[in-house]
Amino acid sequence: MGPDDSYFETIASLRRYLEELKESGVDGLPLLPEAGVPGPDSVAPSPLSGTGAADSLSMAEAAGSAAAVPLPGGETLGEIRSDLGECRRCALGAGRTTLVFGVGNPKARLLFVGEAPGREEDLRGEPFVGEAGQLLTRIIKAMGFAREEVYICNVLKCRPPGNRNPLPEEVEACSTFMLRQVRAIAPEAIVALGTFAAQALLGTKEPISKLRGVFHDYHGIPLMPTFHPAFLLRNPERKREVWEDMKQVMGRLGIATTPHKG
Ligand code: SF4
Repeated sequence: MGPDDSYFETIASLRRYLEELKESGVDGLPLLPEAGVPGPDSVAPSPLSGTGAADSLSMAEAAGSAAAVPLPGGETLGEIRSDLGECRRCALGAGRTTLVFGVGNPKARLLFVGEAPGREEDLRGEPFVGEAGQLLTRIIKAMGFAREEVYICNVLKCRPPGNRNPLPEEVEACSTFMLRQVRAIAPEAIVALGTFAAQALLGTKEPISKLRGVFHDYHGIPLMPTFHPAFLLRNPERKREVWEDMKQVMGRLGIATTPHKG
């Protein structure tokens, strides 16, 4: 691994840690740590959390401006994939191994959207493989679907180097294709997995802990934000909240719910 990769991996680790705090409902960090572990009442806004909010806001604005572009109607997913081609519309195109478009039923009732491909997804060309992907598959099955019956994709189709945060211009370049996919599939409901996907799709900087649990509107389609499966692997006690979110989605789709076995 070269020095560049090491740098990006360090940034990505810090980002994952901060996102984990954010997903847990912590909105800031103390500027000057004192002896002992600060309790929830002692947290204050930090330059780091401020930077994240600014990034999120500009990413939301980027997604919103992409959505404002007039889109072709009546497209198939195959036509959208052909239009992407060997896409180099943003800088991520140069570093990817495989463009990860999405998998599943092109007329799925339910669409799951994550952030961007990770290392394994980039190599295999499929979203949500690996441990987090296996957990997502278990969630899908618990909802009464086979993985092939739903559609799974990411907001960004190419892997950011070292899994760093996508830049606003990268979100802007790729968001139009995300919306075109949604229009082609026309699902009855969308599940946004994790902070980034929810913020990018909804054009907000609210943390996932505040967004989840209620339906939002994405171009006329009900969208339920929930925790990312990778977050659940590190925080299995939060699975119950995800199951509550998925029960609401099942209710919207008219699927009877059964008790979750964990
Ligand atoms: S991330 Fe999206 S816009 Fe950027 S190169 Fe990949 S497919 Fe194209």
